[in-house]
Amino acid sequence: MRDLLASFVAAAERAACRAATVCQQVQRESDFTGTPQSKAGGEPVTVADYASQAIILREIGAEFPNHGILAEENAAHLNAPENRGVPERVAALVGAALGERASVADVSRWIDHPGDPAERYRWAIDPIDGTKGFLRREQYAIAIGVLDGGEPCAGVLACPNLPVDPADPNGPRGVLFSAARGAGAFQRPLAGGPSRRIAVRASADPAGVRVLGSVEASHGDPRLIDLLVRELGLGGGVVRVDSQVKYGVLARGGAEVYLRPRSSPTWRDLVWDHAAGVLIALEAGGRASDMDGAPLDFRAGRKLEHNRGVLCTHGPLHPLIVDALRRIESAPR
Ligand code: AMP
Ligand code: MG
Repeated sequence: MRDLLASFVAAAERAACRAATVCQQVQRESDFTGTPQSKAGGEPVTVADYASQAIILREIGAEFPNHGILAEENAAHLNAPENRGVPERVAALVGAALGERASVADVSRWIDHPGDPAERYRWAIDPIDGTKGFLRREQYAIAIGVLDGGEPCAGVLACPNLPVDPADPNGPRGVLFSAARGAGAFQRPLAGGPSRRIAVRASADPAGVRVLGSVEASHGDPRLIDLLVRELGLGGGVVRVDSQVKYGVLARGGAEVYLRPRSSPTWRDLVWDHAAGVLIALEAGGRASDMDGAPLDFRAGRKLEHNRGVLCTHGPLHPLIVDALRRIESAPR
């Protein structure tokens, strides 16, 4: 089992590193002026999102052809009439990254690699998590998780804009986080270098507790986060970071709480926005559940249908926060 999970992590790391190179290239070469393409719901999507997914799924599809796939992008949207010229640009980026010819048909096939949804192992892939952060040239992640039935068993996050050393925020950037179930969580520089084991920081004193939230207010409920901070006297401040980089920051001790309230009663979190990050945080000694303290249920398809938001902390804080949220939400507003 250990060898199998290690082979998942190795494949995910290879794919994420290649995909990250293309994302960095697109960020260097584009000024992102004009309106980026917009998927249904107004979410931005760039050539880098499609190129990243094609690269990842070519790798995973070749190595584990029957595994299930849950991934954000699809070739129908890439090839939609309003995206004139985009598929050709994606094919050129992917071909250059792989060092071989890649046609529009090739990248479309890789992006849509179906896998077998009935397989025990399913890959949850977000080719660019935090596209809004990517467009702002702030934080984003290439996220690759593997689910064993309903539970994450392997996870990799490539974070091209995250400082390697938290103590040196202006130093070299680009971090690769990885974890396999039961084997701990690690980070190493994306550009290569030694891997080191990471661990959450346990803070017994609420005055030092830092809370992670989205940069995009519309992705959550910033007011609820502020109420929680006040209720428990959490004095470390609210740290706003895009994407699953939040899980990496928590896992290496850069904050103690990640709270993601639902942005509306009908919102359901997407599996690929959490699978990789949750495992990395758990393997670093963290704890994860939904806002009611219920276990995250990754079994229900593309969305966490049965969970209300997501809460990830270092362990001892967890029940205190679930209780505080219950008090806040049951108080008359
Ligand atoms: P973050 O940067 O943590 O806010 O997470 C980015 C992710 O937020 C994207 O990958 C989207 O899947 C997700 N997202 C987009 N719209 C919403 C929304 N209205 N509510 C919650 N999450 C959203
Ligand atoms: Mg995402």
